[in-house]
This record gives sequence, structure tokens and C-alpha cells, in this order.
Amino acid sequence: MKRVAIIGGGISGLTAAFHLEKARALGSDLRYTLLEAGRRLGGSMNSDRVEGCLVEAGPDSFLTEKPWALTLCKELGIDEQLIGSNDAQRKTYIVVDGRLIAMPDGLMFMVPTKLVPTALSPLFSWGTKVRMARELLHPPRPMEDDETVGELVERHFGAEVVDRLADPLLSGVYGGDANKLSARAVLPRFVEMEEKYGSLSRAMLAAHNKMRAMAGKQPARPLFSSLKDGMQQMVDAIAARLDPSALRLRTRVRGIYPENDRWRVAIDMSGSELYDSVIVATPANIAGALLEAVDRDLADDLLGITYSSSVTVTLGYHMDQLSQLPPGFGFLVPRSEGRRMLACTFVHNKFPHRAPADKGILRCFLGGARDEAVLNQTDDEIVNTVRSELKDIVKLDARPMFERVYRWRGAMAQYESGHIARIARIEKCVKQIPGLELAGNAYHGIGVPDCIREGMHAANAVVQALSMASSVQSN
Ligand SMILES: Cc1cc2nc3c(=O)[nH]c(=O)nc-3n(C[C@H](O)[C@H](O)[C@H](O)COP(=O)(O)OP(=O)(O)OC[C@H]3O[C@@H](n4cnc5c(N)ncnc54)[C@H](O)[C@@H]3O)c2cc1C
Repeated sequence: MKRVAIIGGGISGLTAAFHLEKARALGSDLRYTLLEAGRRLGGSMNSDRVEGCLVEAGPDSFLTEKPWALTLCKELGIDEQLIGSNDAQRKTYIVVDGRLIAMPDGLMFMVPTKLVPTALSPLFSWGTKVRMARELLHPPRPMEDDETVGELVERHFGAEVVDRLADPLLSGVYGGDANKLSARAVLPRFVEMEEKYGSLSRAMLAAHNKMRAMAGKQPARPLFSSLKDGMQQMVDAIAARLDPSALRLRTRVRGIYPENDRWRVAIDMSGSELYDSVIVATPANIAGALLEAVDRDLADDLLGITYSSSVTVTLGYHMDQLSQLPPGFGFLVPRSEGRRMLACTFVHNKFPHRAPADKGILRCFLGGARDEAVLNQTDDEIVNTVRSELKDIVKLDARPMFERVYRWRGAMAQYESGHIARIARIEKCVKQIPGLELAGNAYHGIGVPDCIREGMHAANAVVQALSMASSVQSN
């Protein structure tokens, strides 16, 4: 019987455990143990119920087009619980000079694909609009260096688009800074589009038309998917499939050491244990510290991946207090507005199932790569900031029915310039170390579906290596 340790019980580690459990049920001669430092499973996936409303502390949904989360929900038998975003209401605003301005029709991520709505939109100055029209003539070019997203977007559309779209959109997804994040790692499709078409607008339009033709008359899928009882439902469904004796909470690993073709895993307060394989599913900087005794270069590369922190604040209201809110999913706040809030989601519009008809929920984001300091404020200070900024931006002065503040320290990996080369070095090194696998949001995508894919790949690699080792032994 081979023993496998999974370190970290977020969605990456849980998915790895689920796939090991499946392999075990199919006859693999292995036993897994999941070691989680915290008091609960799920890492940043955590849902709460407050006054009949569903409050997401971390992720509230996942991109439908990335298949791994949907597939996992099907395997878990919770696919009937899936819900889609209410895309008929999908309008997002940008705060410009303290006012909400709707993103124009045809804007895909940050690329304009419709001339008339873009030309009529007050979101951009005339200089930017002329630049957007000229972008259609951009010649194809291969990207030589690892440019930042800010540099790539500025080359195509100018600095205003970086400030009003690229930076706020990336703050929302990565808690990151467009002038540091690697275009190749974060927006690989943009890099490919530029190489093939030159113009991002023409490329995006071509991709859109192709997708529409392929989809034919099928109803459009929602952009985001979630679960009726929140993202926590996925965590609970996985946990229910695992061997309860294999799940160890409040168990912090403090080091991993090679010992006679096996791994000694040192655990806070309770000595150490021997395993045949280890899947490290913690944030990469923690993985780096745990693996210092295994390989110095690997540890340094892992430690070099930076993380940003964030705060989510959820405010619950009676619906009649929210009558002045415009329709839509919410708004983004560019850095140039000098606010602390990065974004606000009108949750009851994005996912109407999240609140009873007479209640509404606003979820605000603060922190990110440029405002780590907000995490040190008290809950009251943070709520006061959010309420005062909501009053300025959407004239909402009413006292909320409830408030919830969640701090996420070092939760979002930052794919900065050089990320792809760093990950290639990490993977080359890990390949040469038998019995070691990594999983998490630091490597090939930060979203929930990416982490699920990572956990699955790590488990499959372990099962394959163990079965190869036992077939060599039995020959
Ligand atoms: C506020 C917020 C909003 C987000 N919104 C979305 C969204 O809407 N959609 C989306 O797709 N993604 C979203 N994300 C990203 C996504 O949720 C995360 O990337 C993903 O959940 C990370 O999962 P993970 O298992 O890799 O890491 P984590 O969830 O960070 O789990 C790692 C686990 O390792 C444990 N651990 C750490 N050190 C040790 C140790 N020494 N020993 C044992 N255990 C240890 C930790 O306690 C933790 O439980 C969001 C993230 C945050 C923070």
C-alpha cells in the first residue's frame, strides 16, 4: 500500500484527493491523507447564509467556458444544483470622474468590436476613439519580450484604455496591476491574436463570428456558473466522497524532506510522517518554504511568485433601499479615481438566486497589489470606507441590514513578467523529483476551474507513477 500526502485543503488539494479516492475505488493500492492547516476545508471557497441571503466570502462563480468545474460537478452528482449568471442583465459600469459610465456594447474583455457604440460612448476621449479606429490597421507582429498587459494594451489602444479598462478588469480577476502582469501568462490569446491578425479588434471579431457559427442555434451558455447553495457546495460534495479518516484539519505542514526514496513530512506539534508521494497544493510561496530542503533552485522559483491580498465586503439591503442603483452586474473603479474600492458587484442582479426578491446584496472588493494596507484596518473602518464611497458613487446612503468583511491574505498569485519561463523551470525540476507534484493557482490559471484541472493532473500523475513503480517491482 502506497501512502500519498496532499498538503492544503483548498479546491486544488480537494480535487486531488477526489481523484485519488476514485483511483483507490478502482483498485489502486494507495491511501491518501489530506493535511490542512486551517479549521475548515475549501481554502478561499467559503459560503455563508445571512438573513436568507447567500454570501460568498471568496469566489462567487466560475467561467462556464472552462470545462473542469462543470465536469467535476457532474462527477459529484451536483450538476442539477448549477445556476448560470443572469446575462440579460450583464451590464458593467466604469467609474469616471465619480460617475458611472456603461461599458459600450461590443466591448469584449477590453477590446472594442463595434464601431458605433464605441464612437458614441462617453467612456473614451476622442483621441482614444481615433486610436481605436486606427488599431484595425495594426500589422501582425510576434511578441519578442514578455511584455506586461499594460504595455500591450497601451501599444494597441493607448494609456486611457489601460487606466479605464485593463487595470480595473485585472484588479477584479487577479487583484493585480496591469503594469506588472505578464501579457503572455495572463492574456495568451491576445498575444496569439496579435501574431496572427495584428489588430486585436479584428481578431476578436473573427473569433466571435466563428464561435457564433459553431454554436449555431444552440442557446447561449451563461458566462458564469455557480451553485444554488454557493461555491461551498462543491467543497462539501467533495468532502462527502472522501474517507473521513483521511482528512486532517488544523494540521500545518512545516517541511518536506527526502528520505530513502520516500518523503518525510514534518507537521507542527505532531512530529513527522513518511509518505511515498506528496502533492503540495498550498500557495506557491508556502510550497517554496516547505521544499527548501528538497531543491534550492525549485524553492527559490516558487518563493519568487508574489501574491496579492484582498478584502471582500458584502452588504445586505432591503430592495426598496436600492432603487437608485442602475441595472447591471456592477461597476469597476479605475485607480485614477483615487478610491479604495476596486469593484462592486450587484449580486442580486448577477445571480438572482442569491437573495430573496425583497432583498439585495452588494459585494465590494478592496486591497489588491497596490493596497495591502487595507487588510490591517478594522472591520468597522473598512465598512465605513465602503459605505462612504458607495454614497459618493451611487448615492447609496441607507444603512445595510447586514455587513460581512472577509480578509484574504496572500490568496491571489500574480503572474508577473517572466512567469512562463519561471513555471517551465519549476516543472522541469519537479519532473526530475519522483513522488512530488504541485497544484494550485500559481501555475496555469488562477480561476477555480484552473485549480480543479491542476488538482486532477497532480493526482493522475501520482497514480500513474505509483502504478509504474509497482509494475516494475512485480516484474
Ligand atoms: C476574494 C477572492 C475572490 C475570487 N473570485 C473568484 C471567482 O469568482 N471565480 C474564480 O474562478 N476564482 C476566483 N478566485 C480565485 C480562486 O478562488 C482561487 O484561485 C482558488 O480557490 C485557489 O484554490 P487553491 O486550492 O489553489 O488555494 P487555497 O484556496 O488558497 O487553498 C490552499 C490551502 O492550503 C492551506 N495551507 C497553507 N499552508 C499550509 C501548510 N503549511 N500546511 C497545510 N495546509 C496549508 C491553506 O490553509 C488553504 O486551505 C477568487 C479568490 C479570492 C481570494
